[in-house]
Amino acid sequence: MAEKRETIRAAIYLRISLDQTGEGLAVERQREDCERIARERGWTVVATYTDNSISASDKTKVRPGYDRMVADHARRRFDAIICWDLDRLTRQPRQLEDWIDAATDRGLLLVTANGEADLSTDGGRLFARIKASVSRAEIERKGARQSAAQRQRAAMGRPPRGIRATGYTLNGDIVPHEAEAVRAIFTAFSKGSSLKAIAAALQGAKQAERDAGDRTMVQVLPSNVPVLPSRNGRPWNPTTVTAMLRNPRYAGWSMLAGEIVRDSAGNPVQGQWEPLVTDTLWLEVQRRLDDPARKSSRAGTDRKHLGSGLYLCGICGQPVKSHGTRYRCAGHVMRSRSQIDALVLDAIRALLARPDLADLLPVADSERANELRQAVTKQRDRIARARADYAAELIDGSLYKEIKDDAEQAIQFLEAERLTLTVGDASASVLRAASPVDAFNHADLAEARAVIDTLCTVRLYPAPRGRKALDPETVKIAPRQSDSASERTGP
Ligand SMILES: [Zn+2]
Repeated sequence: MAEKRETIRAAIYLRISLDQTGEGLAVERQREDCERIARERGWTVVATYTDNSISASDKTKVRPGYDRMVADHARRRFDAIICWDLDRLTRQPRQLEDWIDAATDRGLLLVTANGEADLSTDGGRLFARIKASVSRAEIERKGARQSAAQRQRAAMGRPPRGIRATGYTLNGDIVPHEAEAVRAIFTAFSKGSSLKAIAAALQGAKQAERDAGDRTMVQVLPSNVPVLPSRNGRPWNPTTVTAMLRNPRYAGWSMLAGEIVRDSAGNPVQGQWEPLVTDTLWLEVQRRLDDPARKSSRAGTDRKHLGSGLYLCGICGQPVKSHGTRYRCAGHVMRSRSQIDALVLDAIRALLARPDLADLLPVADSERANELRQAVTKQRDRIARARADYAAELIDGSLYKEIKDDAEQAIQFLEAERLTLTVGDASASVLRAASPVDAFNHADLAEARAVIDTLCTVRLYPAPRGRKALDPETVKIAPRQSDSASERTGP
């Protein structure tokens, strides 16, 4: 009997745009590539959708072929989409998310002729999202038409004439105090500060948003963002902050009319100026800007209080919300915010003071982490052996000191690498600091939340009626990773 095998029904999507980069591929060439993929995979092409000269970036423009494809997909007329490049399919993150949902929920297959998008893997989805973010960032700043001379300047990576970005002079030289502000804005946003908080900090708002009697000592505004007069004299607002965060010039990419300029091979042209942020940070910021709910990080959402959305109700497990001066869940807990925060902050400071802090952190690369742990043990053994040798008068004091100093320095480097492995988020600046407790005491709200999220889970339980004093047994603070699985309660 023949092996039972369902034929995969494939749809091909083709789009030609009149893009000024001139790398637009003729529809026929796209079609050939896509049909070849179908043949190679043994898929049956059941429909081909084509849009001509229509931008994938403007959602007000109608794309009849695309719309028909979406409708046909809803009617389950095909199982797979083949397109030449993700850019051809969509440049709108929201549409991309719909296709990702279709891929994860209904098993839609999506392949591109250049082999980049495979929505069935985490890596493929991440890549697709980054790519959509970059496209989005490029098109959002589309504006003035460009002259041939401007285009030439941009292709050579020279700064655009007559337009100065905050942080640079017209020639592309750095304006130090502005550049410092730009870096701080990118860092603060990537760490979870809201656009509003950043705008307020630039505006010089007072750090007075603290509740009376609240011992949290946590600043609501990002701590490193300096006061900076806006260039048009109007108050900073989330839109002007966004415009800065969207500007690819800060990552060192040449741009023209709001788009990243690419060379004939499609690579971004490097500008002839010093970048203010790394391309990784810039991309991370674009990803956060494109995430409307900012839901990629629990700790990073736009919050005013230490524990809202972060602490959990011990009964139902749902995150608690702020309600007046309290934290509450839908029906189980209603606890004093200042009391709980003070307890949590004390517990966090105690955790940060532990010499085995690195052991408490979640580990991303466990293999390398094991190597490092062993290497640290080896160096500690070396010190112990040298001490024994010295005690037995086999070596003299100066040699013992030499061995000990050398080993201790090695340990310092190894521990530093261990921390970089374990911490890659907003909490890193605190956890990697020479004194994490000090750094925590100076952290802003977003950082403090990230540290709590990295280190532990906080669960609130109902407090017995009629008791004013806080019963620490009703607040469970469990380190995320520790040698013992037992839960620690607050001090
Ligand atoms: Zn609950």
